[in-house]
Amino acid sequence: MLQKVSLGVRKCDRYRLIMSKDSIDQVEALARELRGLRLCYINSTPFGGGVAELLVSYIPLLRGLGLHADWQIIRGDRDFFTITKALHNALQGKPYPEIGSASTRSEYLRHNLANARELDINYDVFVVNDPQPLALRRYAPENKAKWIWRCHVDSSEPDEEVWQFLRPFVEEYDAAIFTLDKFVPSDLRLEHIGIIAPAIDPFSSKNLMLRRHTCRAWLENLGIDKSRHMVVQVSRFDPWKDPFGVMEAYRLAKRELPDLQLVFVGSFAHDDPEAWDIYASIHEEANKDEDMWVFSNLTGVGSMEVNVFQTAADVVVQKSLKEGFGLVVAEALWKGIPVVAGNAGGIPLQMGGRLRDYLVNSVEECAQKMVYLLQNRELAEELGQEGQEHIRQGFLMPRLIRDELTLVKQLLGC
Ligand code: UDP
Repeated sequence: MLQKVSLGVRKCDRYRLIMSKDSIDQVEALARELRGLRLCYINSTPFGGGVAELLVSYIPLLRGLGLHADWQIIRGDRDFFTITKALHNALQGKPYPEIGSASTRSEYLRHNLANARELDINYDVFVVNDPQPLALRRYAPENKAKWIWRCHVDSSEPDEEVWQFLRPFVEEYDAAIFTLDKFVPSDLRLEHIGIIAPAIDPFSSKNLMLRRHTCRAWLENLGIDKSRHMVVQVSRFDPWKDPFGVMEAYRLAKRELPDLQLVFVGSFAHDDPEAWDIYASIHEEANKDEDMWVFSNLTGVGSMEVNVFQTAADVVVQKSLKEGFGLVVAEALWKGIPVVAGNAGGIPLQMGGRLRDYLVNSVEECAQKMVYLLQNRELAEELGQEGQEHIRQGFLMPRLIRDELTLVKQLLGC
């Protein structure tokens, strides 16, 4: 059997403290209509990256609403995950000519077949995340469940050959969910397509409110000077997150603000073999600069520590070149920290109002906006507060649950 992730049960009640009564009533009413429904979420890693982050909060909340929700993880070896990372990158537009080779395709499919045989099939709805387990639906034993494919990446301009390989698998699903309308490839033929943005959980250890003063004090344990400016980027070690662009921007900014410090917080996931090389290169650069730091889950930086870094930051940077959504943007804004972010994919959704001016298209722009916010602290604080309100309005868990359950209800025809 595939591994199931152990999770608890959580009530939605606490959300009444921070969201409108109507929005929570609505979610609870929807869940009552679907009471007892068995949902299964599938992906390829229980930690590292946005999907795992979402499911850790989402599934206990569904359970608290009276639904039966589980999370199964597919297995794979390094070759499989090298292929699936390339498929992920290709959906975001990076060419992957190896997909033309029969051995690459059969390796991908062989693993999906093996995982399908191990799948616990006793569910009414399967939600399959991203390309790694996409082909499960084809190989799963005959069943009456509804199948939804959830795409978390920016698939607006996929590598054509890869997309034509994946498309028939997607079209076997009952529905697909994308974060933005423009991410739906134009030739996808599917009756139900949901456009639903992800969300964060303000009560998780990643996002619960911490005192900034305490967080800054903790930095000193790591050798970071709490009396000086600090910008932080939190992301997997991935080229789309443009860590080297962030470094360049930091170096430019440092010409104007010599006391500036840069912290990278990154994580490794076992379905992401690319991360090690990028980590090594960032580490090498950071070693040359005593004001640049790299921390990761390898050295015990978990959700709470990420929270501390985000809360302690003067500015959070997320200079992605392509981004499905970028939970880290919502996480920082929720903490009232201003963000300078790449003008890419799902990021602009989160940067409402005046924060739009801090969407950047180049290293130079990134440096300039960082410096501006570091020099204008009153404005930075206002923008952080506006950002927090924007996230409250649109990007907290109950809204995501509402949107997804609405789609599920539609599929079930009830
Ligand atoms: N994350 C983390 N530790 C790290 C780096 C990232 O916990 O060292 C978390 C981050 O806080 C966020 C998620 O991983 O919740 C990344 O999600 P995002 O949507 O930003 O990017 P993805 O990894 O899905 O491309």
